[in-house]
Amino acid sequence: MTVETLALGCRLNSAEADTMAALATAGGLRDALIVNTCAVTAEAEAQARQAIRRAARDAPARPIIVTGCAATLAPARWAALPGVARVLTNDEKLRAESWNAPEAPPPAATIRRARAFLEVQQGCDHECTFCVIRVARGASRIWAPDDVLGAARQAVARGQREVVLTGVDLASWQDGARDIAWLARAVLAVPGLARLRLSSLDPAAVPDALFDLWRDEARLAPFLHLSAQHGDGLVLKRMKRRHAPEVVPALAARLRAVRADAAISLDLIAGFPTETAAAHAQSLALLDALHPVAVHVFPYSARPGTPAARMPALHSDVVRARAAALRASAAGHAEAAARARIGATEDVIFETAREGITAQGLRLRATTDMPRAGLRAMRVTGTEAAILLGEAAHGAA
Ligand code: SF4
Repeated sequence: MTVETLALGCRLNSAEADTMAALATAGGLRDALIVNTCAVTAEAEAQARQAIRRAARDAPARPIIVTGCAATLAPARWAALPGVARVLTNDEKLRAESWNAPEAPPPAATIRRARAFLEVQQGCDHECTFCVIRVARGASRIWAPDDVLGAARQAVARGQREVVLTGVDLASWQDGARDIAWLARAVLAVPGLARLRLSSLDPAAVPDALFDLWRDEARLAPFLHLSAQHGDGLVLKRMKRRHAPEVVPALAARLRAVRADAAISLDLIAGFPTETAAAHAQSLALLDALHPVAVHVFPYSARPGTPAARMPALHSDVVRARAAALRASAAGHAEAAARARIGATEDVIFETAREGITAQGLRLRATTDMPRAGLRAMRVTGTEAAILLGEAAHGAA
């Protein structure tokens, strides 16, 4: 009998799932499955429905509580699924009273993992034409600096050596004159923190001061994940994104100028309505220019009520083929990035006894069991596709 969680989609959902499990337990719930849904694509919703049906079949008496973006956008539809006892919207899911818990939670954070994904910002004020997240999560709002620093201290006290700052629109974190660069610098001052990572940033809003921090602070992971979405200017306009195509390579070059070992990771949408073959080729060219270590490719799927859903869509075969082409190119770049690390020594945080993550965001598999959550120097001895293979450096396990 436990309170189990299933989080789909973004890191924010993972952090919130752990926090909901803690609230549910504090409120006396002993046995339940909490499903934190995602609405970014139709595929993500289908995965959640499948998981709920399976859970209801396998444990008919166990209550299923559905939350998250998809549940917020269509609560009645999710409430009608077998085994669903409750549906909580994004607004309700982190409230103490929703779980009969005695007190409100700190910023949502993953507490059962080796790394702490820490929610510092929520919601979004932009209007990208393909997006329902801003509808599901509401207007942009932040956790105050003291709350964030308190949560970071708790993470270190739990033995988590890396904190990942996360949000829906992380780059929009602003508290008066203090921006995300200020917050990152403040979190890095938390005693005992070995590494800080920033999750996805909007290319239109990466502050200059972050590059100074990357230059000055080795514990800020040399990793830049950009929600690029596309490589073509006209498509970016039709997406109502706020950056021009040349901004993404320029940001990558700026980071690599201060951290030669920096790694780039991207979000890209394949098959956006009206996308031509030439426009698609621009996204492929962007990958060839940046050599990213990872790319999250989202096959475009029309989200109900969005402006893009009213645009002339491409045939689903074309969308699938273009997503496959982006994924194949991304895999090639990730494998090359991994091969380039052979012989290097990496600082790895182990998430399981055998697998961990490097500062650049690459996965490393150890040849022997390693202490979980510890930060270990590992020598890279080889690769398997985009996964590094490694052994403890200096001969010490
Ligand atoms: S920035 Fe755009 S894609 Fe991201 S949550 Fe906001 S509206 Fe959606």
